[in-house]
Amino acid sequence: MGDIRSFFSEEDEALILSAVREAESCTSGEIRVRIEKEAGSDPMAAARKAFESLGMRNTELHNGVLFVLALEDRQFIILGDDGIDQKVPDDFWDSVRDVVIDHFGKGQFGQGLAEGIKLAGEQLAQYFPCQKDDVDELPNAISYADEGGDK
Ligand code: CA
Ligand code: CA
Repeated sequence: MGDIRSFFSEEDEALILSAVREAESCTSGEIRVRIEKEAGSDPMAAARKAFESLGMRNTELHNGVLFVLALEDRQFIILGDDGIDQKVPDDFWDSVRDVVIDHFGKGQFGQGLAEGIKLAGEQLAQYFPCQKDDVDELPNAISYADEGGDK
């Protein structure tokens, strides 16, 4: 596979970005997408590492959510910060994950992520409604884990 930044078309990127913006307009939660080339032998450990390095814990209510997609091994993980885990049921992300994976199976990666983000936003809104003077605490842009940058 070539450059991971060329994985999404411009349309896909736009779809994902607007999904994040929209989702964050109805919840104080912060959603980010991280694209990795490969997940390695321990996808969960890799996802957690990305979570830390992206500063996903730096939200006031600890309600950051990271969607991690490893392209080569088609691994997809949703990680939420502690503030979410404390409030929601254990199967909270299952339906989101199912929607995303279903689209992935049809080769619809951008749309799958966008739908998942939308659903995640709706679910988060039940526990973390948007606040007055909401701040965009984490960048909405997709994070690509290629060499030379973790931003
Ligand atoms: Ca926010
Ligand atoms: Ca944001």
